[in-house]
Amino acid sequence: MKKHQIEVLVVGAGGAGLMAALYASKTAKTAVISKLYPTRSHTGAAQGGVGAALGNIEEDHPDWHTFDTVKGSDYLGDQDAIEFMCQEAVPAVYELEHYGLPFSRTPDGKIDQRPFGGHTNNVTGKPVRRACYAADRTGHMILQTLYQQCLKNKVQFFDEFQMLDLIVVNNAAAGVVALELATSEIHVFHAKAVIFATGGHGRIWEITSNAYAYTGDGPAVALRRGLPLEDMEFFQFHPTGIYKLGILITEGVRGEGGVLINDKGERFMEKYAPRVKDLASRDVVSRAMLTEMKEGRGIKGQRYLYLDVRPEVVNRYAALDGRRKPDGSAYNVTAEEILSKLPDIVDFCRVYLGVDPVSEPMPVQPTAHYTMGGIPTNKYGQVVIDASNTVMPGFYAAGEVACVSVHGANRLGTNSLLDLIVFGKHAGLHAAQFAKGADFQPLPNDAADFTLQQLDALRSGSGSEKVADLSKEMKAVMFDGVGIFRTGDGMADALEKVRILRQRFKNVRVSDSGKVFNTEMLNAWELGNLLDLAEVVAACALNRTESRGAHAREDYPKRDDANWMKHTLSWRQGDGSVQLGYKSVVQTRFQPKERTY
Ligand SMILES: Cc1cc2nc3c(=O)[nH]c(=O)nc-3n(C[C@H](O)[C@H](O)[C@H](O)COP(=O)(O)OP(=O)(O)OC[C@H]3O[C@@H](n4cnc5c(N)ncnc54)[C@H](O)[C@@H]3O)c2cc1C
Repeated sequence: MKKHQIEVLVVGAGGAGLMAALYASKTAKTAVISKLYPTRSHTGAAQGGVGAALGNIEEDHPDWHTFDTVKGSDYLGDQDAIEFMCQEAVPAVYELEHYGLPFSRTPDGKIDQRPFGGHTNNVTGKPVRRACYAADRTGHMILQTLYQQCLKNKVQFFDEFQMLDLIVVNNAAAGVVALELATSEIHVFHAKAVIFATGGHGRIWEITSNAYAYTGDGPAVALRRGLPLEDMEFFQFHPTGIYKLGILITEGVRGEGGVLINDKGERFMEKYAPRVKDLASRDVVSRAMLTEMKEGRGIKGQRYLYLDVRPEVVNRYAALDGRRKPDGSAYNVTAEEILSKLPDIVDFCRVYLGVDPVSEPMPVQPTAHYTMGGIPTNKYGQVVIDASNTVMPGFYAAGEVACVSVHGANRLGTNSLLDLIVFGKHAGLHAAQFAKGADFQPLPNDAADFTLQQLDALRSGSGSEKVADLSKEMKAVMFDGVGIFRTGDGMADALEKVRILRQRFKNVRVSDSGKVFNTEMLNAWELGNLLDLAEVVAACALNRTESRGAHAREDYPKRDDANWMKHTLSWRQGDGSVQLGYKSVVQTRFQPKERTY
């Protein structure tokens, strides 16, 4: 077993982890451990853009961004944190530009911007161009840019190290236990401050846009250490995943004028969101799609619809909508322009579907996409552990793993990349400042014992169950029972089934006893995390008897502000059961209103 001592330890090398490391490393000795090589993190898959009210193309204001985000969150987001994020967005994007991020440009050299769902001109209610983008590779560019800056700043990287436990001493974070993938050696990282930036847990669901690594390691470890999670019932389904595969087709396609079409050839979003149509928020569009399919208007009666971005279709609907180019001229998009703005999407469709989007429509269905809930934090990334927001010293979380909460019940597109750079930065700054003023907690001799016990259990199960089977069953159960539309019976049934799967998981045995990249062992450990989180998601969802944002119940179709304008907190008890509690929503300027688009 190896030991390391570091002032600020960041777990995760996606956008949030790298931003945190960059800022922490300005004043503290900082290291990053990551189970993936940093530039393979899921941030690199983000396509569409990062939201900031730069107003480069048309009038826009951070205040409008704030209101849109509060409304998008279905009033569950904390308004102080949302305001902070939207104000900080503008300097944060310019900062990325100054680090060398190659944004797409307007003809006069400014950062170009495109419309995205739920981002509006607050006076007219029409879509506003707020998403700053680098073709359809925005996340890739953010990741590369930040990684280069971290290397320049001498951040120490432990690549392909998987964190398996958080060390807690005197109710404070004191480091983590990790396994080196290449050798299976256990490492103990003793730290003054630990920042979790481990991303989401979208691999719980069958059809998903999320990377294989999205197994919720961070929140599962936090739960095991007695910490609560927040708002776990809220999980976003993105409207446009490639049919059956779930691979994401960015909302940027609709931002560039693409439209959703049903089997009758109708542009059905006109019915559901008359003002912004295909650019309504994601929960609204996903539900509309499911309704179309349920009512028999899926393409050829199947569970998919078309996303059409052929130039003639884009131009026709732009004319019908009265949409004009920024210079006031008529929309006249060409195939070349679509190719230059969405090159990766065009490539994905050609490779995975054999469909060329500039000459054929793309078959799409909603796909599990984004974790709104997570480890509760304040706007400085400090982890808070109860309804009164008591801070846990030395422990921070940022990015998709965290719940600040700026996304509430439904995240707006482009607001996650923004969340990473704003809250990653503040977590890094605060952690470094904390580390400067704090001593190391004493490191217990048995710091790695709990990890070793977990690994031993996986090596000594009865062997009657297989990881792949349990995983497949969990995904199907969660997609059917705790998906886009939910019912009390469906969720209760899913919860029961997940509980049985958790029991069956105890009989899994890892047969590979090798030390070199023992992925069988780690996949089994990750499935344990997903099952733990699936149970929490189902329990929180069943408990919330209303519909809000991404949580849409057929048996409680209305939002119920009188009883449910509150965050859910969930803990795992010693006996394994899930305990629930609540925390108030921070409201500043905006009173809840009915949400129409
Ligand atoms: C296909 C796709 C497209 C998207 N497009 C957009 C978009 O256009 N705009 C937008 O705003 N948002 C978008 N999102 C959402 C956004 O990209 C993600 O929410 C965000 O990138 C998550 O960043 P992160 O830093 O929190 O996590 P990640 O980038 O996923 O990084 C997580 C890191 O944690 C590490 N890690 C995890 N577990 C462990 C462990 N146990 N031990 C050690 N390391 C660990 C991983 O190695 C990785 O480095 C998209 C998401 C997807 C899936």
